[in-house]
Amino acid sequence: MSKIKKIPFAPPDVTEADIEAVVKTLRSGWITTGPVTAEFESEICGYTGAEACLCMNSGTAAMELALRFLGVGEGDEVITTPYTYAATANVIVHTGARPVFVDVAPGSFNIDPRKIAEAITERTKAVMPVDIAGWPCDYDEIVEAVNAAKALYRPDPDTPQTWFDRIPILADSAHSFGAAYKGRMLGSVADFTAFSFHAVKNLTTSEGGALVLRPMGSRDMRAVYDQLRVLSLHGQNKDAFKKFNSSAWEYEIVSAGFKWNMTDISAALGLSQLARYDSDILPGRRRVFQSYREYLSDDRFLHPLAENAEKRSSCHVYNLRIPDAAGERRNAIIEKMFDRGISTNVHFKPLPLHPYYAGRGYNMCDYPIAHEMYLSEISLPVYPQLTDDDVLYVAEAMRSVTKEVLG
Ligand SMILES: *Cc1c(COP(=O)(O)O)cnc(C)c1O
Repeated sequence: MSKIKKIPFAPPDVTEADIEAVVKTLRSGWITTGPVTAEFESEICGYTGAEACLCMNSGTAAMELALRFLGVGEGDEVITTPYTYAATANVIVHTGARPVFVDVAPGSFNIDPRKIAEAITERTKAVMPVDIAGWPCDYDEIVEAVNAAKALYRPDPDTPQTWFDRIPILADSAHSFGAAYKGRMLGSVADFTAFSFHAVKNLTTSEGGALVLRPMGSRDMRAVYDQLRVLSLHGQNKDAFKKFNSSAWEYEIVSAGFKWNMTDISAALGLSQLARYDSDILPGRRRVFQSYREYLSDDRFLHPLAENAEKRSSCHVYNLRIPDAAGERRNAIIEKMFDRGISTNVHFKPLPLHPYYAGRGYNMCDYPIAHEMYLSEISLPVYPQLTDDDVLYVAEAMRSVTKEVLG
């Protein structure tokens, strides 16, 4: 029998250059939010084509900040998908609003714009699509759905909800940094876009995230950025770095804000990763995507796309589907893969299947497509450090284990 390899699911991709960048910041005399974070923000704007970027300590915080900024709360509804990680819906719950789940589109892991249209009410204050696995949602159709429902939009007075003439769109792009939709980088597509730089994501700062913004009419986006930053840091109108650099010690607390800032240590790692994102990280992930498709070409496997005429994936998760292996058989394949040293995963167990959301009355029967997609999904390892030999090893194991389980 051939030697067993150990293939972890998603180890961080950290180079010597990344480590040096972090060490340089540690030696600089300033380690929390400061010049390196500011530079990372400006590089993210340049990369994504966004108008403004606020780096934060998580993608979850970025989503919640957008909702809080909009003034979403008690009595409101936010439409999202049950096919996501809990963060997307949890932040809605934190604000006091109610998550309204609508099913994914047939054969897709992403939210169905037609079902968004049906779910909009006078209480809907935001729509949160999620680019599952790095594959962009149907943004034009989502905009069409909220445009068609303009008559139902009731923005709360005295909140930035009034800046929009239709329900605002907040993209959970935790998976899709570097992905593109109809020639535009994500970050410049939705009204608000939240990226995650968590350790398992494509580009990492260990923990971290960013909220990026498109232009909002003729608004001064620098002023909008300042407002968001103040809200993300205790409502304090002058941050620690500004105080450090001047004798003007005094500041004011203008709201009961949060504590969601990114440190310069994290930003240093992010900047170093971004510098090699297009030349190294994304091509590495794309190569793995292509190889799986090639090595597992029989029709029992349904593969995720890396791109089509309209969309380009960030190749974050290889969400393979095996329609003949739903549920228990899918789980048996995962166990047998593990016995061969290969960690696989499932993205995601839909939220109505978790006790908290089931307890709030959500029922999986109401989202039959999400359920079906979930039951037959297996995520294969994807990261640039995988050699072609590794990818072949995983693919051959998948083929033989699937045969063992399905015959
Ligand atoms: C990772 C993830 C998040 C949260 O990102 P954090 O940076 O860990 O807060 C949100 N949504 C989805 C779909 C994710 O996978």
